[in-house]
Amino acid sequence: MHKLACPKCKKTLFLEGNSYKCEDRHTYDLAKTKYINLLLNPDKATNHPGDSKESLIARKAFLNQGYYHCISDTINTYIAKHSVGPTQILDLGCGEGYYTWRMKETLNNPEYTYYGLDISKEAINMATKYTRDIYWIVGNSKNIPVQDHSMDVICALFTVVNKEELERCLSKDGYILHVTANPKHLVEIKELIYDEIKIKSDEYIRLPFTVRESWDLVEKVHINNHEDALNLLKMTPHYYHIKKERRHVVDTLESMDITIDIKITVYEV
Ligand SMILES: [Zn+2]
Repeated sequence: MHKLACPKCKKTLFLEGNSYKCEDRHTYDLAKTKYINLLLNPDKATNHPGDSKESLIARKAFLNQGYYHCISDTINTYIAKHSVGPTQILDLGCGEGYYTWRMKETLNNPEYTYYGLDISKEAINMATKYTRDIYWIVGNSKNIPVQDHSMDVICALFTVVNKEELERCLSKDGYILHVTANPKHLVEIKELIYDEIKIKSDEYIRLPFTVRESWDLVEKVHINNHEDALNLLKMTPHYYHIKKERRHVVDTLESMDITIDIKITVYEV
């Protein structure tokens, strides 16, 4: 049974024909590709919120080459070990859906229900191409359209979260899997683009909840061709910060070793 809630009144949504409705008759139509648009107009920052289409396509192409399998695997292994029985899993800021889809594929547990939420309609439409057996939702992570304390696992990979909404949505014994980049993450890309690399404090991305566990995942990955390297660059914000005099690096990108250096923190609320 799904745990979707109306983004306007937070009452339970139920499927009626091709629409989801709440008891107050707020109605949300299913798209042809079966995603649900639960983004309210006031939640939209621009007409096309979220990552650009170019960045989404690059991201999908790069991730599907398996370069980030280790990130996906570490998350999936944790869930398999710690969540037994019926489990509601929400992936916030799921983008084009790679990590959510891979969760479903590798965990292969019929007792798990998956939700992938992103503010970009384009991203969610792409996600439906992986599978339609995930609740793909266009929505805002500041107004998550699920019932109070209904999610047992909330994943937030490289995405901005809202503390109040996490508290509201997480179930009593639930946990949050928060994945953030450490300063050395993709340092080789930063060296290509910037004259000087600023090491920022990562304090601002820590959440004010109880830490159950936290660990770093550090791995070197070899990228073996221009196309993949360019896709990696395009899926990062760095691509959009390249100065004119550095433009040539884009054309000369070849095989390269990159550092994956991320932190996985498990929180309880
Ligand atoms: Zn409603």
